[in-house]
Amino acid sequence: MRDLKIAKTDWAKGVEKLFGPYRVFGPKKEGLFHNFARLEKGEAPDFSCKNTRLSAKGLIYPQTEKMFEYTLDPNKPDHHVHKEPVKDYSPMAVLGIRPCDAKAFTLVKLNFDTPEYKDPYWIKNYAAATFVGLACDAPCHACFCTSAGTGPYDTAGLDVLLADAGDFFLAKVLTEKGEKLVAAAGWAGAGDAGAFEAKAKAAGDKVVSKVNTAKLAGKVTNDLHAAPFWEDLAFACINCGTCTYLCPTCWCFDIQDEVCGTEGCRLKNWDSCMYPLFTMHGTGHNPRGEKAQRVRQRFMHKLKYFVDKYGAGIHCVGCGRCVTACPVNIDIRRVAEIMNGYEPGKDCAV
Ligand code: SF4
Ligand code: SF4
Repeated sequence: MRDLKIAKTDWAKGVEKLFGPYRVFGPKKEGLFHNFARLEKGEAPDFSCKNTRLSAKGLIYPQTEKMFEYTLDPNKPDHHVHKEPVKDYSPMAVLGIRPCDAKAFTLVKLNFDTPEYKDPYWIKNYAAATFVGLACDAPCHACFCTSAGTGPYDTAGLDVLLADAGDFFLAKVLTEKGEKLVAAAGWAGAGDAGAFEAKAKAAGDKVVSKVNTAKLAGKVTNDLHAAPFWEDLAFACINCGTCTYLCPTCWCFDIQDEVCGTEGCRLKNWDSCMYPLFTMHGTGHNPRGEKAQRVRQRFMHKLKYFVDKYGAGIHCVGCGRCVTACPVNIDIRRVAEIMNGYEPGKDCAV
């Protein structure tokens, strides 16, 4: 790891140079919100937003991805053969990802890249990416990253971390991939580790929203599962799925075939545990047919099952997206507080 200082004028020139060796992605304003988008030469990532509406999840794990295609036409020589479409796994530079969203990929990796199971699409996209993070100096009111296992200057999952210091960026180059990108951009000024650390401390102190999760690991799973508060918690939920689509750590998907005439393809699509069809069996039985069961599943997965299975904290990085976007104000911080404090047989107000 080493420190760099990049003048903003050199930043712009360096970004231009990245368009040769990399596909370049960064925040771009689309309507009212910023989202990650592929940038064309001459375009700069827009760092003026607190965070993107959707996380960068879709760059590694697209909302819809074609797995293979086929023809059922017996007159074609390759009928009934699964053909993988040509995909672009060339290097990509992801500029301006927030530390919480980069950390989220490290949690998703625990599920998509294990010794037993490997998602080849996710793994190849992740391997192609070089993540240049942008530290947060002004967290939003709903951010609770510092109590969710990360922070505004966390380096987990990043290759380079930038801190905006006015006319220049202070930067930390964290990995070999980061070194390669910095060399391609031509950024070489000596940094200031002390100034970087001072900014990191000041930013961490600004994150005042917290979530209390200390007792979750010690709770009995079946006690939480059978707790009486789920009906009340779920009462207002309209099962819109917004929370799961915005979430950088939600990873559920469905696989569907689309066939038109004799031509077909198989797609991997984001799914949501909040949808009634999510666990519908072929028999028609649905183990989560009620709304309260689905809301319980979302929070039990994030705050209990994941904690117990991986020992890597909660399945949430405190980005605050679901808190601000839920149309009925269901707040994971409040749910965590209730779960964390739950004792069977004792009153618990929702
Ligand atoms: S965003 Fe809110 S209302 Fe929509 S599914 Fe999630 S918890 Fe329910
Ligand atoms: S659960 Fe909510 S706060 Fe946590 S990472 Fe997902 S969207 Fe962000």
